[in-house]
Amino acid sequence: MSSMVRKAILLAVGICAMGTAAGLGVAFATSSNEVVAGLTAEKIEIPVPGKVLMWPEVTEKVASEKKDDENVLTVKYKTEVWGNVVADFSDFRAKVAETLADARGWVRAGIKFVEVSSGEDVDVILSDPAHLEALNGCSGELSCTTWNNQVIINDVRWREGTEATRTVGMGQRDYQHMVVNHEMGHWLGHYSHVESCPNGGVAPLMLQQSTGMRGCDTFNAWPLEWELWANKK
Ligand SMILES: [Zn+2]
Repeated sequence: MSSMVRKAILLAVGICAMGTAAGLGVAFATSSNEVVAGLTAEKIEIPVPGKVLMWPEVTEKVASEKKDDENVLTVKYKTEVWGNVVADFSDFRAKVAETLADARGWVRAGIKFVEVSSGEDVDVILSDPAHLEALNGCSGELSCTTWNNQVIINDVRWREGTEATRTVGMGQRDYQHMVVNHEMGHWLGHYSHVESCPNGGVAPLMLQQSTGMRGCDTFNAWPLEWELWANKK
């Protein structure tokens, strides 16, 4: 059985970078994590570090193995490609590494990403739309992060962005930063989207800029100060 097929079977639910808020709420309604669709930025609650919001074994593993010290969480990731993608995979790998190491990004939350060839915590996958479409909870139109520790970037979006991001003038490299940071944000524990910018301003990373700015004035590819948390720490 190929690893892709095995992963597809193991997959339970997914969260979509460009899906609807309603679909999102259904996907992540679990007993340990109440989905709170509809929250605005001011109402987001910051989880207590170490609080179990995901699989207990994951949190336990993180606590015992992942901390270099009290302030840094090391996340091992592996890059993969699924299906017939058009984007250059080497370029994708390099750009993902660049984004994850960028001083504007999750680094500010004390997270250090290291690319590995095995023993990864999370897979970062460049996928053709057909493979995404086949996954429960994902869509061929979207990028997707799954409970199976897969951050899956849609090849078409990686190359073209979305109509909404093009409309607001988000450049393709900005889009790539945004989609990698956003999907990784879901994996880090940001299961809900920020629904809107009630007072305008800079868009939070975890707002679905792929489908619209929702009252925000400025697009943004990086976590805002109050988004700098991860429940895996
Ligand atoms: Zn999302």
